[in-house]
Amino acid sequence: MAREYYDVLGVSEDASQKEIKKAYRKKAKKYHPDSNSDSSDEEKFKKINKAYDVLSDEEKRRKYDRFGKQGVSGNASAGQQRAASHFQDIFEEIFGGGSRRRRQGKDMKINSTISLEEAYNGLEKTVKISRNKRCDACNGSGAENEDTETCSDCSGQGQVRRIERSMFGQRQVLKECTKCKGRGKVPKVKCSDCGGEGVKEVEETISFEIPSGIQDGQRMRLEGKGHENREGLSGDLYVYITIEEHESLERRNSDLYTVKKIGVGDAVLGCKVTVQHPEGELEVSIPQGTQPGQVLRISGKGMPDHYGRGDLYIKIDVSIPKKVSEEEKEIFDGLRSKDASGKKSFFETVKDFID
Ligand SMILES: [Zn+2]
Ligand SMILES: [Zn+2]
Repeated sequence: MAREYYDVLGVSEDASQKEIKKAYRKKAKKYHPDSNSDSSDEEKFKKINKAYDVLSDEEKRRKYDRFGKQGVSGNASAGQQRAASHFQDIFEEIFGGGSRRRRQGKDMKINSTISLEEAYNGLEKTVKISRNKRCDACNGSGAENEDTETCSDCSGQGQVRRIERSMFGQRQVLKECTKCKGRGKVPKVKCSDCGGEGVKEVEETISFEIPSGIQDGQRMRLEGKGHENREGLSGDLYVYITIEEHESLERRNSDLYTVKKIGVGDAVLGCKVTVQHPEGELEVSIPQGTQPGQVLRISGKGMPDHYGRGDLYIKIDVSIPKKVSEEEKEIFDGLRSKDASGKKSFFETVKDFID
C-alpha cells in the first residue's frame, strides 16, 4: 500500500476525512510560504497540497491505496477543480480577510550571546536593533501631505485578476496589485521623509528579561517588537540565545560537569578544594580515599530548571608526579615496600609522612 501521502500529512492509513482535513489545515498553515513564520517552506507546502488533493477525494484515495502515485497522476480533472475550490475555502479560513497574521509587520530575528553565569542567574539584556516604524510625516500613507489618488492599475480595488497555471490547470486568481501593494491608493507626490514607503528604518534600544536556566539555542519571542508596517501594526522579534562555552564547566541539560585535579596526598587523606561555579568559587570537601576518576555529586548546584536545580558533578583527576625530589623518592619508595610487605597500609604510610 502506498504510504507517502499519509506520511506527508502525518495521518494513519485509516484516517477519516475529518482527520485528514484537520491534519492538512495544521500543516498548510505551518508551511505556507506567506505564513510569515520560520517554518514557511514552499516545497513542503506543495507536497502537502498534493497529498491532500488525493487523500481528500475518496475515489482518488482508493486508487492511490491500490496503485500508488501512478494511480492518481494525470491532467486536471473535475475532481481537481473541486479540490481547488476546497483549498480556497480552507485558505480563506486560515488567512482569511483581515486576519492579523497577514496584516501585521514582519517578524525579526536577532542573536544574543550570553555567558553560562548569565544563563544561570538570568539577566536583563539591552540591545540596539534597527526596525521599520510607520512614517510620522505621512502617517504611513507614503504621500506628501497624505495626499493620495486612486490606483489606476486596479481602479482602487487593491487586487487584480490574473490567470494562474497550477496543478489543477488554469484558473483566474485575485492577486495583490503590485503598483499600490493592495492599498488601492497611490501617493500624488511621494513622501520625502520615507520615499513613499510609509515606513522608515529607525534605531531602537530595547531591553528584555532572559530567564535563569535558559538553554543554548532557545528562542524567545518578544511580541510586537518586530517591524512595524504602514498601518502601525508590529510583527514580533525573535531572540535566539547562544550560551558561550565555559572554561571549566560543561552543561548537560540541568546538570553541570567539571574536572578537578588534586594531588596524591589529597586523594588519600581527603581535602578541601574550590571549583569554579556560576555563583562564584565553591568550596567542596574531597573525602578520604578518593579514587582517580571518581565522580562526586553536589546536589542542587546545577542549573535552575522547572523542577528546581540540577546537580554539579565533579570528576576527580589525581595527578601523579612525573618528577620527584630525592626526599620524595624515599617516601614513595618506602610506600612501595610497605605496600608489598603489608605491614602498613598505603594510607597509613602517607599519613605518617604528612604528620
Ligand atoms: Zn493598485
Ligand atoms: Zn512618509
